[in-house]
Amino acid sequence: MEAVVSLLSILQGKRLFVGLEDRVLWNASKNEIFFVKSLYNTLDSSGSVPFPWRIIWSPCVPTKVGFFAWEASWGKVLTQDQLKRRGWILANRCFLCCDEEETINHILIHCPKARVLWNLVFSLFGVNWVLPLTVRDTLLGWSASFVDKKRGKTWRAAPLSLFWTVWKERNRIVFDNEALSIQRLKNSFVCNIFSWSKSCLDGEPCSLINFVDWLGSS
Ligand SMILES: [Zn+2]
Repeated sequence: MEAVVSLLSILQGKRLFVGLEDRVLWNASKNEIFFVKSLYNTLDSSGSVPFPWRIIWSPCVPTKVGFFAWEASWGKVLTQDQLKRRGWILANRCFLCCDEEETINHILIHCPKARVLWNLVFSLFGVNWVLPLTVRDTLLGWSASFVDKKRGKTWRAAPLSLFWTVWKERNRIVFDNEALSIQRLKNSFVCNIFSWSKSCLDGEPCSLINFVDWLGSS
């Protein structure tokens, strides 16, 4: 009975055109023609979690770095907590600070060694910001409005460059038995963001020294 009532309420107010053929219409598009994009928008707006896709799929960073940030945002990088969940038996300790357990949010956001780089980013750009708890919230909150327009692309590439630099350093320690080097961490970060920015800045700062000066100029 309920179904009949709801059918009648849908039909109420509709007019039937006797002379017209029946045809299938796609309500999710304005012109009632099916497009994959309209289907995607329908699925995407149905209560899905917000995701920082715009900053992750940036033309200013290499695709492999975007993929790493994508995995990190979903908590799928194989940090020690993830290996334990998959049945590995190990004593979980962060390879960088040797103090806290290693999770993706710890190693990329909260680890004191990663914080050295975050502080470097904020001081280079002259920005004050309190980092959120997770990788995803950090990227979601990483607003271009924090800096002026000309430095916007570099600013948006900064967290991805930082993630990649920290992860590569971590892997050097784990797989190549190297000791942590804060100086190498800082150098790698600045070199990465410089070389990636160069490709999307149309000839602006041409040397590393000019680049660092340029970052500090608002
Ligand atoms: Zn740590």
